[in-house]
Amino acid sequence: MNLILLGAPGAGKGTQATKISDRYGLVHISTGDIFRANIKNGTKIGMLAKSYIDKGELVPDEVTCDIVKDRLTWDDCKKGYLLDGFPRNLFQAAELDKFAKIDAVVNINIDFKLLMDRLCGRRVCKDCGESYHVSTLNGATTCSRCGGELYQRRDDNPETVKSRLEVYNEQTAPLINYYTMQGNILNFTGSEAPAEVLFAQVAESLDKLAR
Ligand code: AMP
Repeated sequence: MNLILLGAPGAGKGTQATKISDRYGLVHISTGDIFRANIKNGTKIGMLAKSYIDKGELVPDEVTCDIVKDRLTWDDCKKGYLLDGFPRNLFQAAELDKFAKIDAVVNINIDFKLLMDRLCGRRVCKDCGESYHVSTLNGATTCSRCGGELYQRRDDNPETVKSRLEVYNEQTAPLINYYTMQGNILNFTGSEAPAEVLFAQVAESLDKLAR
């Protein structure tokens, strides 16, 4: 099963991605994670990506599409994959159609008012990528799942978040219509309810597809 996970920054894609890929044995491919790993390792792609990510803008399509196209040729993708954060605009979606066959798009809709606070208060585990919100951490600085150190992403600050949400509205949201026209979108509502509640709904739909 090959899936796309769609939703605004802060909609809870990362948490759902981990749960979905665990349940269905899919490779989780997050373009944001790929860029962050490149930045950490000081690669050429990392240096280029950083200048865009810090401003909340999209990394150029050509670079991003090449990375995904190559990643999907790896052997592990044969068991199925979940694309998280890709495609981000109509150009990338059209490119993806040329080199991949997608079974379903899981779209998480969310009230935009929740997102600024969610993103600016987000803390992420350096080791396993689990997300938390400062308001529920009670001062903890390590991950309750694996013990890793928690950090705040450089792009989770009010100014960058504002651009990321604008980019989502202008460039990514049109993908909802694109995949609705293709007839393979599954729509869900993300909210303040625990991630497990949303995941139960997602799994109910995907179980039918996986059969
Ligand atoms: P994310 O971790 O998905 O929130 O992505 C963090 C940042 O990486 C985004 O704000 C973009 O700057 C960049 N990025 C991630 N995925 C893409 C993509 N598909 N196309 C262009 N830029 C991307």
